[in-house]
Amino acid sequence: MTQTIINPTPKDYKSEVKPTWCPGCGDFGVLNATMRSLAGLKLPLDQTVVVSGIGCSSRFPHFLKTFGFHSVHGRALPVAQGLKMARPDLNIIAVGGDGDFFSIGAGHLVHAALRNIDITVVVMDNEIYGLTKGQTSPTSPHGHVTKSTPYGLMASQFNPIATALSLNVSFVARGYSAKPKDLAALIEQGVQHKGFSFIHALSPCPTFYHTFDAWDAAVTPMPADHSTSDRAKAVTLAMETEKQYIGLFYREERPTMDQEAYQLAQKAKPFDIEQYMKRYA
Ligand code: SF4
Ligand code: MG
Repeated sequence: MTQTIINPTPKDYKSEVKPTWCPGCGDFGVLNATMRSLAGLKLPLDQTVVVSGIGCSSRFPHFLKTFGFHSVHGRALPVAQGLKMARPDLNIIAVGGDGDFFSIGAGHLVHAALRNIDITVVVMDNEIYGLTKGQTSPTSPHGHVTKSTPYGLMASQFNPIATALSLNVSFVARGYSAKPKDLAALIEQGVQHKGFSFIHALSPCPTFYHTFDAWDAAVTPMPADHSTSDRAKAVTLAMETEKQYIGLFYREERPTMDQEAYQLAQKAKPFDIEQYMKRYA
């Protein structure tokens, strides 16, 4: 039976498990935003699945009352996509960090984007590996000094929004954990969007890389005249280095793989096992 909550509040989605994140971790803001969005959409607990990989942020499903799957490193997207193909009626949200989605899971991100499967992805980006105690991640800036890069990082910084736009992702947005109401509104829109929704959530790690002050200064609302169907302009905004625009960069309606597979299954003739077995008689 569907567990619909009448007039839900964010607390109705909170589990008994107390978050184990460090005090002040940005992921608290993302959790708060996610619970707000689930309540705003009145999503039934048993029709919603939150899937994660491995990392500090990937502990997320434990803190929610919905169904959840804490999978393996970098593999939130294969699990989430398989689940959506098997159960298109469910609302699927895949969550994790910058290491999980842009390093070991980067290949999955490319193909999930191209398939446009109807799932929502929330990447909690702190530009560092938190769980393993502060090594550089793909989004760490060039020259960043850590225990693993004592002479400074000798690699360029990965640009999540520009990458998502280049992969033809059909819904691309950015939010900030310190602005949970705005982030919740983006997650709500992402869940409602029919297709692959990518939400880049700036979520600082005060323990290993304190970016709150820098992001407070850099975070800027999306220009009021930005057209969310203008992908070239969205790329230009994503390439800004001084400002971190928050809001919806790009949105496009196009067929999803789960829809197309369902339509194909409707057309296909039922498989005749007896006829098939006669070949081996
Ligand atoms: Fe959050 Fe960083 Fe602590 Fe991990 S190490 S829980 S990312 S503050
Ligand atoms: Mg990280």
